[in-house]
Amino acid sequence: MEQKYTGIDCRHFINGAYVDSISKETFDNTNPATKEKLGTVANGSEADVKLAIAAAKKASKGEWRTMPLRERSQIIRKIGDLILERLDELAMLETLDTGKPLSLSRSLDIPRAAYNFHFFADYMTTIGQESYQQDDVALHYAVRKPVGVVGLINPWNLPLLLMTWKLAPALAAGNAVVMKPSEVTPMTATIMAEICEQAGVPKGVVNLVHGFGEAGAALSASEDVDAIAFTGETITGTAIMKASAPSLKKLSFELGGKNPNVIFESADIDDAVETSIRSSFLNQGEVCLCGSRVYVQKGVYDEFVEKLVERTKGLKVGDPLVEGTFVGSVVSEEHYNKVLSYLDIAREDKGTFLTGGKKAEGLPGYFIEPTIITGLDRSSRCVKEEIFGPVITILPFDTEEEVLEQVNDTTYGLAATIWTQDLKQAHRFASQIEAGIIWVNTWFLRDLRTPFGGMKHSGIGREGGAHSFDFYTELSNVTIKL
Ligand code: NAD
Repeated sequence: MEQKYTGIDCRHFINGAYVDSISKETFDNTNPATKEKLGTVANGSEADVKLAIAAAKKASKGEWRTMPLRERSQIIRKIGDLILERLDELAMLETLDTGKPLSLSRSLDIPRAAYNFHFFADYMTTIGQESYQQDDVALHYAVRKPVGVVGLINPWNLPLLLMTWKLAPALAAGNAVVMKPSEVTPMTATIMAEICEQAGVPKGVVNLVHGFGEAGAALSASEDVDAIAFTGETITGTAIMKASAPSLKKLSFELGGKNPNVIFESADIDDAVETSIRSSFLNQGEVCLCGSRVYVQKGVYDEFVEKLVERTKGLKVGDPLVEGTFVGSVVSEEHYNKVLSYLDIAREDKGTFLTGGKKAEGLPGYFIEPTIITGLDRSSRCVKEEIFGPVITILPFDTEEEVLEQVNDTTYGLAATIWTQDLKQAHRFASQIEAGIIWVNTWFLRDLRTPFGGMKHSGIGREGGAHSFDFYTELSNVTIKL
């Protein structure tokens, strides 16, 4: 595979300047599609995080929070504009970092990152406030104040999209932030800091520290960080919660999932197949919302599975830079080994591989063939645990009651998809699923005003529209005696 583009060296961004780690330590950043080095990354420790927090704390009391709303909104909008101006560059960096198809970075990751800013630039100007007139005794009204300093800790699967999903409302609400992107995908967040500065965000309001869990842990434990918005693995969420407990921070968690995709006999099967290709294998299955547990009612089982297998066999796996590639490489060697270990478990559990089941041959990086597994028992770890790769399991079912019990038999509760043309069935079933996000006859269709988040071990709190503002602001009630 020809390496046509290069990465960037990633340094921290603290108090308006790019800086090295105090220790000068760095680690290498690797392109998972080629195993080639993209550059170095500053390895942040507690000392670097403390500097970033101090800068954010000072800035959180400055002009950003008191700036007229319209002015702040214009800066937020400008950030979105600048992201679009640099779409080519950002999309390329995202693809080099993650291994995802360039076409996906160009059509989803980067445009959505820009839209996060455009959306919140508008939304922030529409928010009103509660007020109550208590007879002729008092007038009560609630004002929103920024939380202060917010730590934004993010994963590697949709790096800029997810970082901006937090950064945009945090800034719109008047906070100062410290971003901690994934150590695996540091590049677009590095550019983001520069873009915020160019758009007119005052010095110290946006800070960035690179590094591993240690840097995130230092943010979580700090008395000077007022809130943490985290997206990542459930087990990391637990660690953050523990570390944050002594300082009683506000927490917003978007965690793991093992989402069901249920195809009823009443479904439009061709539609269900087409969308299930995306909900199974988009972004190499590395989307928290992917429907990796597929349940198909027996009357349409053969038809659905046959069509899905045929479509899957036609998916182009390969160089993310080549037009037409649908499945790129998974994000890292560590993750590649994790996904492959689940394929071994499926073999041990006597699963049948209808497609894939192995690494993709003839490619230099961490490529795994899109894999469909049937014949597993519902107790198999492949059916129960989050694999987060291009791997789905399919199980047949007879009745709605039976599948509902299986759908909810999980510690997770992020998303679910239902395929049915029976309106009553759709409402009935959706109302009983234990998940924060439910799609009927579609998948990944989003309106940023809607509540986004998970139940059970998939999250705490909701993001989106007013829900984001609830998290990134504190309400102060003022009572005026009349
Ligand atoms: P991860 O939890 O390993 O890492 C996420 C971030 O947390 C990284 O920046 C990492 O450095 C940091 N971190 C690690 N240890 C930490 C600690 N002790 N304290 C503070 N920070 C720490 O997750 P990942 O492997 O990068 O991402 C994949 C996971 O993210 C999957 O489980 C996926 O489902 C989840 N995810 C969820 C959503 C959602 O909206 N619910 C969206 C995308 C991804």
